[in-house]
Formats: sequence, structure tokens, C-alpha cells
Amino acid sequence: MARYIFVTGGVVSSLGKGLSSASLAYLLQSRGFKVRLRKLDPYLNVDPGTMSPFQHGEVFVTDDGAETDLDLGHYERFSGISAKKTDNITSGKIYSDVLKKERKGGYLGKTVQVIPHITNRIKDFIKNDTAKEDFVICEIGGIIGDIESLPFVEAIRQFSNDVGKKNALFIHLTLVPYLKASDEIKTKPTQHSVKELRSLGIQPDIIICRSERSIPLEHRKKISLFCNVDIENVIQTVDVKTIYEAPISFNRENLDTQVLKYFNVKTKKKVNLKPWKKITKIILHTKKSINIAIIGKYVNLKDAYKSLDEALTHGGIKNNLKVNLIRIDSENLEISEIKHKLKRVSGILIPGGFGKRGTEGKIEAIKYARNNNIPFLGICFGMQMAVIEFARNELRIKKATSSEFGSTQTSVIGLMTEWIKGGKVMTGTDKDLGGTMRLGSYEAILLKNSLISRIYKSKKINERHRHRYEVNINYKEVFEKKGMIFSGLSPDKKLPEIIELKDHPWFFGVQFHPEFKSRPLAPHPLFSSFIKAAKNHK
Ligand code: GLN
Repeated sequence: MARYIFVTGGVVSSLGKGLSSASLAYLLQSRGFKVRLRKLDPYLNVDPGTMSPFQHGEVFVTDDGAETDLDLGHYERFSGISAKKTDNITSGKIYSDVLKKERKGGYLGKTVQVIPHITNRIKDFIKNDTAKEDFVICEIGGIIGDIESLPFVEAIRQFSNDVGKKNALFIHLTLVPYLKASDEIKTKPTQHSVKELRSLGIQPDIIICRSERSIPLEHRKKISLFCNVDIENVIQTVDVKTIYEAPISFNRENLDTQVLKYFNVKTKKKVNLKPWKKITKIILHTKKSINIAIIGKYVNLKDAYKSLDEALTHGGIKNNLKVNLIRIDSENLEISEIKHKLKRVSGILIPGGFGKRGTEGKIEAIKYARNNNIPFLGICFGMQMAVIEFARNELRIKKATSSEFGSTQTSVIGLMTEWIKGGKVMTGTDKDLGGTMRLGSYEAILLKNSLISRIYKSKKINERHRHRYEVNINYKEVFEKKGMIFSGLSPDKKLPEIIELKDHPWFFGVQFHPEFKSRPLAPHPLFSSFIKAAKNHK
């Protein structure tokens, strides 16, 4: 039977619960165990698919087509395990499932209540498809004390009783602040947060204390005493210089050892930290750097392009380079400033996006990259904009646009109404916004001898998608005559997946999101190649 590790947070949000869970997963895996990571999100949206990146950060897409919380991206990048639809759930989805069942009379006339009906549904979710795992790490979003997360906290309390205390472990991550004015480390917020957790019936077994500086033993002893947790299980996590140091730091503080000790599980396998040490060294000590411009609508929010930022960094690691990301807000990009703003960059990237606002600046920037031989990567929306630019300026279709921006006679980018998944015809719509896009992993067939097939070293690839519109295949021939090659197509040849330029050193548009599959220990070939091209351009 699987053993369950629940990770809650206290005092403030953004302490790095996701990163802690992901690091622990790596450490346990490295010691030879099979691990699964899950996230329970307290908000009422059914999934984060319709939430604005400004508010919620990136929407992470899984192979099986779920739109999930960005923490699942951390999980994948650190553990190497591909997340599934069943690894992220929200209160909205739980309530919607329970209410659907109620409407069908599924509760046989009973009063439907938070306890037991909502909590039972949460417990089913936690347990589902975990029989073959050694450990299931389950992160609860938000912090203890939030009204919204109460049903989750109650469910995990019950869950630990159901499976037995020795099969469930509670980790609570809190902030231990340092006050500059009095030169003191404060344990009180942690004490209060644990008190709150205990009032909900949960006694933490391990407390992870996030701190700016090392926490002296006497303070840890105080936390141990007041919070009723063994001193060995009061684990500090001091701010690291790069996130890739996190597994190293947690191992140094014995997190994995204490977890195994709790469950009374023994293994002779030692943790392998070599790969993390290697990349930490590159990140911290490489002097050479290049500038890559990201031109998008959401650049002002740090987490809006999380996987993309990561994938570019991974490309840098592969090339022994530091990648400086120059974020340019497409909505305020004046056409006249483009040359000036892009003067010092070695590569230009246009990420995924939605809606017309800011597109003219993007299109001009693409033209600049194309005419000046600057390495360019357009992802999803970025590819669509590259196709529009080419149609307008090379094919002289002046009104070329996307039907996403309103009805038009010249939709080089059009609404996708049908596509094939696993042999079945799927239909799309732009009426219902949640979960109606072409989502998840799809195969693409690469053109023989194309640059893309050399980069991937393969004839076929699988990449994750999240889009409603597509490049109109009817334009293929006229585009190719002018030098824009459709070098990747869906297996039925109806959907353009990749475009590249014949007479340009490195210019690609991809309809999918390669960034979701890049990992620090296995950088994605497209990003490694992009950074290499940028390095050569410099
Ligand atoms: N808005 C575009 C579409 O729906 C692109 C989406 C994206 O970039 N993820 O097709």
C-alpha cells in the first residue's frame, strides 16, 4: 500500500510548498522509491484553465490534456514524472462532481453535506490510482486558516485515520522571520500556525521552517517544544541562490531521512545529488551570458511564463551560459521603439497568448527578427503571429489575420472545429471556454532533412498543446514557395505543427508548448538549440 505525505503551509503563502514537495519527491525517488505528486487547490474554479495568468500564473498542461496548477510543472521538472489529469483537483471540481451526482439522485434522498460528501470525494481523489506507489505526496494549496481550505484539511485528517497513522505523515511548512531592527529570529508565527493546525485536528509530524538565515539550535528547540514535534523533525530551509539547490539543501537537513524514519522504511540506496550540484555550479558560476527577449502580454507577472523561463534556463545550462530574460510588454511596445529595444538581444521569443491586444508589436518584432537573421522561436500564439507576419509582408496578403480577432475573409489562422485524438474525431468551440481546446499531447511528423528533424533527431515527436486556432493548411503551398516550410504536420497532414524559414539561420514557429517538457536534468532539444543559435548570433 502507498504511504501518504501531506504538505500544508502556514503563516504566509509563496513559501515554496511546491518546490519542497518536488524536492522531496526527487530525494525519495533517488533512494529507489516510486513516488506520485498531487495538488489539492481550494479555489472554486473547476480548473485553472480559464484563470488569468495575471492572477494565477501559468496554466500547466499535462500529457493527458489537463489544465493544471503551475506547481505540477515544478513536480515534473524535479521528479521527472509526467503528471496526469488525476493529480490536480480544485474545490470547484469537487463541488461540481458532488452536485452533479446529487442532481441525478445519487445520494438517495440524503442531505448532502460537506462532511461526509465533500470530504469523501476529496479522499477518493487522494487515493485514486495510487496502489502501485510507494509514496504519494499531496500538497494542499493556500495556507492553514483559510476558510476555503477547511474541507481539504478535514479530509486529510480523516484520511490519516482511515489508512492508519503509520501510513500518513503531515509536513507543515512555515515562515520563521528574521527581524532586522531587533536582530532576532522569531518562532511565534510558526507556533501560532501549528496551533491553528492542531485546532483542526492535525498534529504535524515534521515542520519545515523557511528562513532567510540559518536558525540556531535554541530556536529550533523552542519550536520543537511548543509545537510538540521531535527536534530532529524541525527542519530548516534557508533561502537558496537557485532553486536547483533545493534538493541538495533538503537532503543536507535530513528531510528524506526523517521521512523514511517516520515510516520505518529502510533502503541502502544513497541519494544521487551529482546532477543538481553540476547544474547549480553552472548557474552560479558561469560568467558568459546572453540576452533573450520574451515579448508577451503577461511579462509583468513573474510566474506567468514559469515553464518557459525554466526551459530557457535549461537551454542555457546545456550551453554553459547564463540566459538573461529581457521581458518586453507587448501591449506597450511602440513600433518605433522595436529596433532600439531589441538591439542587444541574441534571440527573440514570442510565447503563447490569447486575444488581439498587443499583437501588432509582436508582428513587427517578428519582422525584425526575420529580416535581421536573429534567432526566433514562436510558441503557439507566437507561431500564429509569425505566419501572419509572413503572409502580410512576403505574400502581400495585407489583411492576413486570425479569426480569433473577429470575422475575416483572410484567416490564415482559423478556428479549429475538428481534430483527431486516439482515432476519434474531437470537436472544438469558442463558445464554452473551459476545457474545450485541443489539449495535451499530440503526435507530429517531421519533414525529412528539415532543421527541426535534426534538432529532435527524430521523425516523430509528441508535444503538448493548448490552443483553439490553427494555421490554415490551405496556405501551405504558397507559403512554401516563398520559403516558409511547414516542417511538422499532424499525422493526418491537416494541422501545421511547425514552420521554419529556409533562408534564416534559426527561425521556428511551433503550435505546441515545448517548454512543458523541458527539465533541468534533461533540457529540451528545441531550447538547447535556440540558445546555441543565439550564442552563435552574438
Ligand atoms: N490563442 C491561440 C489559440 O487559441 C493560441 C493559444 C496559445 O498560445 N496557447 O489558438
